[in-house]
Amino acid sequence: MAEFDVDLFVIGGGSGGVRAARIAAGHGARVMLAEEYRMGGTCVIRGCVPKKLLVYASHIHHEIEDAAGFGWTIPSATFHWPTLIANKDKEIARLEAAYTANVEKSGAGIVKTRAVFEDPHTLRLATGEAVRAKHVLIATGGAPNHGLAIPGIEHVISSNEVFHLTALPRRIVIQGGGYIALEFACIFAGFGSDVTLIYRGDNILRGFDDDVRAHVRAEMEKEGISIITGNTVDKVEKHGKEFTTHLSNGSSIASDQVMFAIGRHPNVANLGFEKAGVAINPNNGGIAVDSFSRTSVPHIYAIGDVTHRLNLTPVAIREGHAFADSVFGKRPVEVDHVNVPTAVFSQPEIGTVGLTEAQESEQLSKVDI
Ligand SMILES: Cc1cc2nc3c(=O)[nH]c(=O)nc-3n(C[C@H](O)[C@H](O)[C@H](O)COP(=O)(O)OP(=O)(O)OC[C@H]3O[C@@H](n4cnc5c(N)ncnc54)[C@H](O)[C@@H]3O)c2cc1C
Repeated sequence: MAEFDVDLFVIGGGSGGVRAARIAAGHGARVMLAEEYRMGGTCVIRGCVPKKLLVYASHIHHEIEDAAGFGWTIPSATFHWPTLIANKDKEIARLEAAYTANVEKSGAGIVKTRAVFEDPHTLRLATGEAVRAKHVLIATGGAPNHGLAIPGIEHVISSNEVFHLTALPRRIVIQGGGYIALEFACIFAGFGSDVTLIYRGDNILRGFDDDVRAHVRAEMEKEGISIITGNTVDKVEKHGKEFTTHLSNGSSIASDQVMFAIGRHPNVANLGFEKAGVAINPNNGGIAVDSFSRTSVPHIYAIGDVTHRLNLTPVAIREGHAFADSVFGKRPVEVDHVNVPTAVFSQPEIGTVGLTEAQESEQLSKVDI
């Protein structure tokens, strides 16, 4: 009997895991990938892709408003949320099938089940089967933070649920000041919802250039989005179909939905890491890795959001590709996490790369702006 069933076992069929599995299989490795939910992971199923579809849909409202100025007469337009969601779901199902087909075409096998470590080389599938792997890649991604267990937290939705609302909320309260909170605030405002954004800091988009933060905030406010900073949500009450959100300043807001987008955490719980000896990075709660994505155990690697380095799809894909080339392609590749561009699909959109003006002034003696 062979010592190992596979050369590589990938836990997680998201952006990073899929790329790593395909490239490793292309290098001739025997690969098995486990996915417990849907192939494609966060980006395809409940992240970048469906979000971008909603962004496009919300832009159309503005274009119809502008149309008259360009000579178009458009009979009064109506919007049907359930049609948008049904069509979005169709597109996601098509992409999920394409991801599955591409992995299978590469020669890697897929098991649609949860996998956890039993020992450093053995994965236990939820089906009961055990698989012995020479190398293991952890690509389990991340999940939304719920924050403190405030009264009424059970009424609050996250980005996971927002893609499945059965009706467009006429009024929505969103807590958060990062890109996901802003993008959804602008999406709902584009559909005509009454949007209130709550953020605990002094201004939205912490970590971005101050002039960008001020400009985006001013433009969002012009669109009618109410932005309340320096406050947190203390309590959410439900009365029938309506919610009352209580803020730390003592005020309250009535709405039809309450969403929190207050950050994400790496998916490291209940994976059997203690049995495998995989160490967690105490600074960020993700799996500790070196620049080759190697964990504290030499044959176990981790990539993407579970390492909590830069939580972006192209980064997870690059890390997955570099891992596969390094381990199975005889071509060691380190991933450079410096100067990674990032986009925010707020309205207006933002694209940035490199240091902010404040960071430059701290780090360099002379700066031309
Ligand atoms: C609302 C939203 C919008 C976003 N927009 C953008 C954007 O515009 N641009 C961008 O670059 N990034 C965006 N992101 C981030 C992006 O989605 C992630 O960075 C990316 O998906 C990370 O890929 P990954 O492979 O690390 O993990 P994931 O894509 O999260 O995949 C992990 C997979 O592992 C599976 N899994 C977990 N545990 C197990 C287990 N034990 N067994 C089997 N399977 C398991 C999960 O079901 C999941 O499918 C967005 C995220 C969100 C939430």
